[in-house]
Amino acid sequence: MKQITLEKEVTISGIGLHSGKTATIKIKPAPINTGIVFNRVDLANEPEFKAIAKSVLDTKLSTNIGTSEQNRASTIEHLMATFHSFGIDNAIIETDNVETPIMDGSALLFVEALKDIKLIEQNAPKYAIKILKEIEFRDDKGASVTIKPQDKNLTIDFTIELEHFEPKIMKQNITLSKETFIEKIAPARTFGFKEQLDYLRTIGLIQGGSLDNAIVLDGNKIINESGLRIENELVCHKILDSIGDLYLLGHPVIGHFTAHKSGHFHTVELTKKILADKSNYEIIEL
Ligand SMILES: [Zn+2]
Repeated sequence: MKQITLEKEVTISGIGLHSGKTATIKIKPAPINTGIVFNRVDLANEPEFKAIAKSVLDTKLSTNIGTSEQNRASTIEHLMATFHSFGIDNAIIETDNVETPIMDGSALLFVEALKDIKLIEQNAPKYAIKILKEIEFRDDKGASVTIKPQDKNLTIDFTIELEHFEPKIMKQNITLSKETFIEKIAPARTFGFKEQLDYLRTIGLIQGGSLDNAIVLDGNKIINESGLRIENELVCHKILDSIGDLYLLGHPVIGHFTAHKSGHFHTVELTKKILADKSNYEIIEL
């Protein structure tokens, strides 16, 4: 297989979930071995941040890369998940603000924008990162992520537990392909609990959040009038986030990822742990 980029650029605009600021992003073709690079053209010197584990600045409710509070590209995970699933190896995301637009809280509008653009093969072999050992990261509150070796593909098993919502335990399993992503994962919107959201707003986060870009839960009720969009939407959104965060390994991932009550922090820590020891993985030609 060959590396893949876009035939031509595509432009998307929208507001950021946390900043509330409007950003216009241009997803542009990039040369072989570029990877996924975010380019803040609104800042002096137009800094570029490669979307890999060591660029992660923090994982406060979203995945943010850069070097400082000012020099950063925020909430990259849904776009990263779309690139991972579409097999896009090389792209430059030129952006004029801090945060990738949240759109409708899912990856559906990124999928739609990219569906119209031809993906082209480049003259270089395509690589994947194959997991060779079982690696785990867990916190002291019962959240954990594990990745194990398997022969091909990325398989994800995700379990969430919700205190007030029925069913309290929600599980979903997928093997990643472009088709599975488009049908089952991309439409799944981000979600939060009403009481948490009120608090987050008071500390200056989710300034752009609304029922147009998130599912809001209040106890066992869904506040959004239209309810859920797909079966298991909540856990499918967690899978969407993991597909994006795992792409911080720098290549499509071959392994079996299992997550329990985890978030961006856990997946990002796992990617760092994997990359810290070269015997944990091998880079193979696909
Ligand atoms: Zn998300």
